Amino acid sequence: MKPGLEAIIGLEVHIQLRTQSKLFCACRNAYGAPPNTQTCPVCLGLPGALPVLNDEAVRLGITLGLAVGARISDRSTFYRKQYFYPDLPKGYQITQGPVALVEGGALEVPGDPAVRGATGPVRIGLERAHLEEDAGKSSHDQRPDATLVDLNRAGVPLLEVVGAPDLRSPQEASDFLKALHRLVVFLGICEGNLEEGGFRCDANVSLRRTGETTFGTRVEVKNLNSFRFVKQALAFEIERQAALLAAGKRVAQETRGWDAEAGETRSQRTKEAAMDYRYFPEPDLPALEVTEAEVAAIRAALPELPEARGRRWGSAFGLGEEEVATLLHDPAFADYFEALAAACGNGKAAATWMLGEVSRTLNERGVGIRSFPVPPEALAELVRLVEARQISFGAAKDQVYPDLLAGGGSAEAIVVRKGLAQVSDRGAIELLVTQVLAANPGPVAQFRAGKTSLQGFLVGQVLKAGGGRLDPKVVHEVLTEGLARE
Ligand code: ADP
Ligand code: MG
Ligand code: ZN
Repeated sequence: MKPGLEAIIGLEVHIQLRTQSKLFCACRNAYGAPPNTQTCPVCLGLPGALPVLNDEAVRLGITLGLAVGARISDRSTFYRKQYFYPDLPKGYQITQGPVALVEGGALEVPGDPAVRGATGPVRIGLERAHLEEDAGKSSHDQRPDATLVDLNRAGVPLLEVVGAPDLRSPQEASDFLKALHRLVVFLGICEGNLEEGGFRCDANVSLRRTGETTFGTRVEVKNLNSFRFVKQALAFEIERQAALLAAGKRVAQETRGWDAEAGETRSQRTKEAAMDYRYFPEPDLPALEVTEAEVAAIRAALPELPEARGRRWGSAFGLGEEEVATLLHDPAFADYFEALAAACGNGKAAATWMLGEVSRTLNERGVGIRSFPVPPEALAELVRLVEARQISFGAAKDQVYPDLLAGGGSAEAIVVRKGLAQVSDRGAIELLVTQVLAANPGPVAQFRAGKTSLQGFLVGQVLKAGGGRLDPKVVHEVLTEGLARE
């Protein structure tokens, strides 16, 4: 983008809530069932059917609100948003307004130094988060002659989070979305599956001259279902708008779609064609009232938030930001790490195993940590053996760990069975050092003449003579002494 221009970005995120049943009926809320098998008169919009609000969806919405420091409305209300589309059986969507369940709040993201001119976290405000029902799903590509409609998704509970226009670059937008995604997954309120549409994002973007205080005309890019697409679509859109402005043209307010294959946004609907949704209060639902006691109970049950967990690990275990971020990529993985660290008593070593061998195994098998066969306490025993220098890291990794995975007994049992216990006994090592020095008069003489790099070679000889079971640290010490003698 040209210097002198600034991008203003605000995201709207649709989060499918992890409830047993749909928002206004008892139909199951589960992805992947045969089409139109999870429907009833309420979510099919049959005349006379009445909605009943799902308490669990309210609880999950409040959970997010508390986690982002928002106000929880003691009284919020429902609206009908009317439009005509085959996947919307009632002819309207029930959403919240003018007061939402969750008002305000914020998330922190690392500021983008490329646009902020400085590093450090920035606070991205949330305007509100409201409950609403999802629509069904239309498939245009299954039959050449028809569009098919699956109403299993109709009425699935959504929490729409409306972000403030506080983001300033595609990088920040993607970081915001990742932070929100991690938060809802760790809170257990959303499955977070982007491919299945469980977490969907619309991105609003406008440009203005640096220093201006009012916003320019915004474009909304719809349905971005990956972090990468958000970044790419916004980068494209910023360049497109900048080119229009540079040519003295105006940006039209419109809705655009992202064509991932072509790598560009395309106009879908202009402001002139914008729909009038004829919002009006939903007559079939009373206002949603939430008591202070209900909010307090939900607050008391909040889990430790991922950011707080990461900070705690960073300071208690001496872990870097990237290690922490990787450990936090999935709640079950984070929990396993936490259990391993506690059981072995060494968070740094636990992190090394999680990011090394454990991750490698999961990648090779294409599974998540829930399918990892070794319980944290059993792996902790192996980590402890290495930390206590009873076996070498190499032997632990290459000889014990595979057996542990294959169910070959406890780490200690494997070490004993395979005779892997590391020799730290000085007497035994001194004997081997003496033998190796005697067998290598040439290198020893060269070493004493100043070629100190030969120490590594001699250490290797001793380790080899010990069958790979000697404690390298003790070998080093004894050899240094031996070479200094004479
Ligand atoms: P609507 O009700 O039409 O969706 P909102 O005012 O609720 O409009 O804004 C929707 C989203 O657009 C919010 O996420 C907000 O941050 C963002 N937004 C509003 N104005 C701008 C702008 N000028 N540039 C970029 N984003 C904007
Ligand atoms: Mg909107
Ligand atoms: Zn139903």
